Amino acid sequence: MGKPAIAAILTGMFILCYAAQSQVQRPSPPAPGPERAFAFDPDLFTRIDLSANSGWLGRFPEKHVAFEDYMRSLPIRPTPGRNRILILPIGDFRDSDRYALDQTAQYAGLFFQLPVEIVVGTVMPDTEKRVRGDSGRSRTQYRTGPLIDFVEKRGLRRNAVCCIGLTMEDLYPSESWNFVFGEASLMKRIGVYSLNRLNPAEDGGARSDDADRLFRLRAFKLMTHETCHMFGLTHCIRYECVVNGSISLDESDADPPFLCPDCLRKLQWNIGFDVIERYRGLREFWKKNEFKREAEWMEKRLTRISLGE
Ligand SMILES: [Zn+2]
Ligand SMILES: [Zn+2]
Repeated sequence: MGKPAIAAILTGMFILCYAAQSQVQRPSPPAPGPERAFAFDPDLFTRIDLSANSGWLGRFPEKHVAFEDYMRSLPIRPTPGRNRILILPIGDFRDSDRYALDQTAQYAGLFFQLPVEIVVGTVMPDTEKRVRGDSGRSRTQYRTGPLIDFVEKRGLRRNAVCCIGLTMEDLYPSESWNFVFGEASLMKRIGVYSLNRLNPAEDGGARSDDADRLFRLRAFKLMTHETCHMFGLTHCIRYECVVNGSISLDESDADPPFLCPDCLRKLQWNIGFDVIERYRGLREFWKKNEFKREAEWMEKRLTRISLGE
């Protein structure tokens, strides 16, 4: 049994990702891929200025993990018989929440190029919880550790590379924390993530198409950021990237939903997907769901990789 170590914390009050190594796998050589996609493109990516960072990196100085070190770290990797990402909805989801959940699963499937399956949901279990008031609201919060154990007991991960319990309830990891967006046990290959604080219309904002789009975009980023940790990626400190750490929702909102070239290379090696096919799928997803800015970025990225511009 590995000992949990904090790998990441996000937000304004924080998101936690506990990491524990348990895999015994031999690194394989890098899969062939378009090297152009793994090179820095100044028109599409932004380097992080570490000397001027007042957010996550100002508070938690982290180190860059080189590609070779990532391979040697023996991250969790899918295998042909264990390649699905399972999502277990926990507790109540309104129709609009369910819509966001369904899209998040679709997005994660394209992002990781792995089958993502939403299994039949469950009622919120009667696990450890507390009531906490903040921002003028009183919320019931569930502790993440017992929820991870609850998901584990469902026995869902046998044929899955990982299993994510997703809930609309608020979470906390331990008494000293105000809340947490998610926590994962790499040893168990189980994560629990919360969409509770991601909907701007729930915090006094008006319901609108823009608010709804922001809610879904946040859900996509949370799901992929946390699941990248599940695949052994640590926080990215070189480029603006979906794997950047954040100490607030504002900081997280400023992160793009995309992987930088370094993180793309790591994930491509891990999963072995076709980079172009992946980008094409994501471009269609953004277009179909009217995320104009993201669709345009993807179009430009594809053009530059394909044509070498
Ligand atoms: Zn993180
Ligand atoms: Zn990155």
